[in-house]
Amino acid sequence: MDKLDYDLFVIGAGSGGVRAARIAGGYGAKVAIAEEYRIGGTCVIRGCVPKKILVYASRFADDFEDARGFGWSIDEPKFDWASLIAAKDREIARLEGLYRAGLAAAKVEVLEERVTVTGPNTVQLVKSGRTLTAGKILIATGGSPMLGKAIPGIEHVITSNEAFDLKRLPERIIVAGGGYIAIEFASIFSNLGAETTIVYRGDKILRGFDEDLRDRLTEAYTKQGIRIVTRQIFTRIEKTAGDLIGHLSNGATLTADEIMFAVGRAPNTSGLGLDQVGVELGWNGHVVVNEYSKSSVDSIFAVGDVTGRAALTPVAIREGHAFADTEFGGKPRMIEHTLIPTAVFSTPEIASVGLPEHLARERCSDVHIYKAAFRPLKATLSGREQKMLMKLIVDGVSDKVVGCHILGEDAAEIIQMAAIALRLGATKADFGATMALHPTAAEEFVTLREKWMAPTEAAG
Ligand SMILES: Cc1cc2nc3c(=O)[nH]c(=O)nc-3n(C[C@H](O)[C@H](O)[C@H](O)COP(=O)(O)OP(=O)(O)OC[C@H]3O[C@@H](n4cnc5c(N)ncnc54)[C@H](O)[C@@H]3O)c2cc1C
Repeated sequence: MDKLDYDLFVIGAGSGGVRAARIAGGYGAKVAIAEEYRIGGTCVIRGCVPKKILVYASRFADDFEDARGFGWSIDEPKFDWASLIAAKDREIARLEGLYRAGLAAAKVEVLEERVTVTGPNTVQLVKSGRTLTAGKILIATGGSPMLGKAIPGIEHVITSNEAFDLKRLPERIIVAGGGYIAIEFASIFSNLGAETTIVYRGDKILRGFDEDLRDRLTEAYTKQGIRIVTRQIFTRIEKTAGDLIGHLSNGATLTADEIMFAVGRAPNTSGLGLDQVGVELGWNGHVVVNEYSKSSVDSIFAVGDVTGRAALTPVAIREGHAFADTEFGGKPRMIEHTLIPTAVFSTPEIASVGLPEHLARERCSDVHIYKAAFRPLKATLSGREQKMLMKLIVDGVSDKVVGCHILGEDAAEIIQMAAIALRLGATKADFGATMALHPTAAEEFVTLREKWMAPTEAAG
């Protein structure tokens, strides 16, 4: 083969692609990275980071109320959506700058346009038509919001992409979906003052999470005034002079200023050319890879959301790093996709690591549950009724803690630490032997003593 333009060509400058490019560049590889939108990818530009900024903004509503119980008096706080979005945009631009600087420091060439794959070692820049060659190609193109079945009027809905840049805060919003993105946005909009409805086709929101978390979050949302309509899908969206009217499968209608679809995400492989070069794609178009992120074509690799493994930023970053270590650093490494801690930044927040109870019962012959629902100390003066839930799931045979679940303030922060314990194989006895840190909510995990029994077990 003639001399190649690059050792590595990365398509997509998001979490996984940027990490892989920087690490490979650091090993001395000649690297280029192409990006069709903005450097930083979904997480930085229109995912985790702006989402968490909006979550923080939305939680001040409760903070102002709670402050009264602690002696503060606050005259009518006012919120301005436009100021929030402008501040968010400034922070994202700053982060994008840091990503660019990191790539420059690793001597990675940045090409700001869409790219397709034309051969095992060739890519084409769509705008300029230039063809470039590379020893290895890394697909790190992420995913995009799906809209589901094409229903009449679907062009009037927004997705998370647009939700971050709305010109004004809607007074009424309907969020379609029951996954974490739908649930987080419902909480953001509701806390900021929008009349909020969730429409979900399933029975209960947050499929896959522990049932206790799902039930308690449903209860909390209902109490806060978020309406949850289950077992319904939209059949049509109608736009009138001032409203959007969503028609549901049961014939009912819901009226709002915005309808946001958060009904799933699809890997960005459409039109990428991968099928023509023999890369195997999975059932929903994701790139099928082995444990070293290699596709069915030896020179083509993929990391992050596009592989359909676990669609989370830290996972994409780890996969990108392991790929670069393996292929350019002489340090073969694969990533374990187990015990991935995860959170829903709803208010109240939920977070989990390990197995939910229903899976533990399928996989372990004996399961012990420990749980506590209590009013956190702060709520005693604020008067807030929301209880916190902490739940430990223990394999009765080995005494290993196989699942930790929390609903309540700082759930995600606590679960990140619990994930280390689970990874080290901590037992319930280890949790119990750990000294409590008082007064905290997290201390419940090390002080839970009584096994929880279902009402029928307890009676028997
Ligand atoms: C609303 C929302 C909230 C989220 N919140 C969290 C969270 O709290 N925690 C968490 O861990 N994860 C969260 N995620 C998921 C997280 O953002 C993704 O898992 C992560 O960004 C995946 O990284 P990636 O590198 O695989 O892809 P991405 O970050 O999506 O990057 C892919 C990049 O490739 C570019 N691209 C695509 N095709 C081409 C092409 N042909 N040519 C050139 N460029 C191309 C895209 O423009 C994009 O910039 C959230 C996602 C969303 C949408």
